[in-house]
Amino acid sequence: MFGRRKKNLYSFEQPSRAAVEAYQATQDWGCVDCRTDTRCEYYHLRGEVWQAAGMGPKGLLCIGCLERRLGRRVSRADFTGVPINDPAYSRPPRPKSARLLDRLKR
Ligand SMILES: [Zn+2]
Repeated sequence: MFGRRKKNLYSFEQPSRAAVEAYQATQDWGCVDCRTDTRCEYYHLRGEVWQAAGMGPKGLLCIGCLERRLGRRVSRADFTGVPINDPAYSRPPRPKSARLLDRLKR
């Protein structure tokens, strides 16, 4: 029977660790401004906030460069509800940085 599977962007099957690592190896994790590796600052912002930072569909920003571009600190309300934004989310890419955790809890 078709049409019974609901597509939910926020629920997905857990990929294997090997699959995750293979995927990550193909990515450029450098912040577009300072080239810092952003694996410990991997987050998903609301579209309008990301656009306000001058960003499009591609590229990553560390929290420091994001906030410099916005001219303010980000807080919980700027982030979407995806699992990677959960401070307790412990899967890769990496444990979250202290400043990302701080912003996610504000
Ligand atoms: Zn940066």
